[in-house]
Amino acid sequence: MKITVDPSSEFVIPISYGSTEVIETGKWGFQKPHTAFMTAPCQEACPAGIHIPQFLYLTQEKMYDEALFTILRENPLPGVCGRVCFHPCEASCNRAQYDESVSIHAMERFVSDVTSNQIQNIQLLSSRNSKKVAVVGAGPAGLSCAYFLSLLGYHTTIFEAQKEPGGVMRWGIPEYRLPKSILRKEIQRILSLPIEMRTGVRVGKDILFDELDPFDAIFLSPGAGMNSPLFMKGGDSERVWKGGEFLERINSKEKINLGKETIVIGGGNTAMDVARSALRLGSKVTIAYRRTRNEMPAIQDEIVEAEGEGVRFEFLVQPVEINMTKKKRVAVTFQRMKLTSPDQGNRPKPIPVKGDFLTLETDRLITAVGELVDLSWIPKKLIKDDLIDTGSTPKIFAGGDAVAQPRTIVTAIASGKRAAISIDFFLRGDDDEEDLSKISIGGKGSLSMEAYLQGRDSGEWPEKKEVVSYPQINTLYFEPSRSVRMRKRQRNKILKGFSEVNLGYNTKEANFSASRCFSCGTCNYCYNCYFFCPEGVISLNPLDKTRVVDYLHCKGCGTCAKACPRSVVVMKELS
Ligand SMILES: Cc1cc2nc3c(=O)[nH]c(=O)nc-3n(C[C@H](O)[C@H](O)[C@H](O)COP(=O)(O)OP(=O)(O)OC[C@H]3O[C@@H](n4cnc5c(N)ncnc54)[C@H](O)[C@@H]3O)c2cc1C
Ligand code: SF4
Ligand code: SF4
Repeated sequence: MKITVDPSSEFVIPISYGSTEVIETGKWGFQKPHTAFMTAPCQEACPAGIHIPQFLYLTQEKMYDEALFTILRENPLPGVCGRVCFHPCEASCNRAQYDESVSIHAMERFVSDVTSNQIQNIQLLSSRNSKKVAVVGAGPAGLSCAYFLSLLGYHTTIFEAQKEPGGVMRWGIPEYRLPKSILRKEIQRILSLPIEMRTGVRVGKDILFDELDPFDAIFLSPGAGMNSPLFMKGGDSERVWKGGEFLERINSKEKINLGKETIVIGGGNTAMDVARSALRLGSKVTIAYRRTRNEMPAIQDEIVEAEGEGVRFEFLVQPVEINMTKKKRVAVTFQRMKLTSPDQGNRPKPIPVKGDFLTLETDRLITAVGELVDLSWIPKKLIKDDLIDTGSTPKIFAGGDAVAQPRTIVTAIASGKRAAISIDFFLRGDDDEEDLSKISIGGKGSLSMEAYLQGRDSGEWPEKKEVVSYPQINTLYFEPSRSVRMRKRQRNKILKGFSEVNLGYNTKEANFSASRCFSCGTCNYCYNCYFFCPEGVISLNPLDKTRVVDYLHCKGCGTCAKACPRSVVVMKELS
């Protein structure tokens, strides 16, 4: 029979689903779509290696317990980090190149605050064994190490010199930045695991270092709690206080009379906390720093907050002499400085401007010029460059501020996790070096506990994932938006006590904030691939919402990969 087609009429092609199914058009293609989960740059930059896109997705879905659990797999202190971490994750967020980075730390805080401190989801990751580990110091490094060791099945004992655990988080950082109730909630969650906490025990004084010998492994995390003195005439005057001691007195709720004016010397976190605390005690405050604002080592947010609250800054000055005046005030003579070429730390070096001095009078001088590690009780073979260096000493590990690494809470937490994994390797008689690289997230040094457990228990290490770069995000799918600023206590109330300044997000703000995440490299079930597939060969598994590709009929056109906003669907050529 001859078939004629009238070109003026509508051209209709009859499709039979049955025949389409029979003809396996998938065999024609030379490439096929695959799911390739990748690493988000925020996760790579977080020293604790939190799976950020995943916890943000779960928050958006209002699955708060699951979001908390995602964070707790890698970081036992989300409420702390959500408040005081310097959040390097946000500096690396792909969204920063589009409009503004996602407020990851605020979201971490939100998840921690809306969930209870129950730990029901954190089952022990391994069965318990008889090996015992000692941890010296209950700051973030020690707590993190004990937490992960406990999850890995070890019996851990923490020796802590102070009457309460927490280290700098408890005795240094003031209440207005990190409420004690939040810290206690998180420590309580950690200590709900089988961990023995022995407070009020200073190793080297109450027990000897050698008494730790019966333990199968030892983790040293005593921090850098010794304040450097001011080596100059008048530096030992009773009106000259050390910053760390001042903060400890405040955190012990001692009543302190500072006088009307206070000068703080230094440019780090301690200087900012001292200055802002002094303001709250009713003093006018000037921070004197020997370089300029750009070189201040304090966390940027802290400098901005201090300025906003009314702290004055005197830059490029270095104290050289301290005298008491007849009115019992402190007269501080400063040498004026100027900056030259960068020094070893790549910061410009301050040098004196000849003959140029400045004298300021004050009621109180508080120094915050650096913290040292108390090494008096540490065996000499474990000391290098005024820090602890365990080198290849068997069974002794160290982390936190006492070793050569950046002095921040999240790096301390990360070092505790790293040590827990290394101790696990050691006690299982394994050689860790090669395997640690298999569980690193991207190339910035953070480790994944999740990957470690998967590889350790199955012997099959997860494939190393690439980091998603900004050009790999299809931004056509996103509307520009601003990040949500965290609500703050009313300005006129801020300086009237030590109540927390930042008030966090409410549910609506958190939901919007989470929705700004591109979810780089992680499927968030937007189903673009499903909707855009011209062949209708992608379906959704109703049980776990995952995408199922009918490879027998997928021609490999690549539309799904193009339609994926986050580089999760990639086309792979058939061999
Ligand atoms: C005032 C101040 C503010 C800061 N603010 C921030 C911030 O906002 N964000 C941030 O990321 N970082 C901040 N930092 C840095 C951060 O707090 C530290 O990097 C971090 O606490 C280091 O953790 P760690 O566990 O090594 O030591 P620590 O927190 O110092 O804890 C060490 C613990 O060991 C105990 N200990 C010491 N010796 C012994 C011994 N012989 N026997 C038994 N126990 C012992 C101590 O009592 C202490 O509890 C701040 C630091 C200071 C000083
Ligand atoms: S711990 Fe710090 S770096 Fe990591 S996600 Fe939280 S705020 Fe970001
Ligand atoms: S957009 Fe989301 S997943 Fe991507 S880097 Fe930022 S926070 Fe991470």
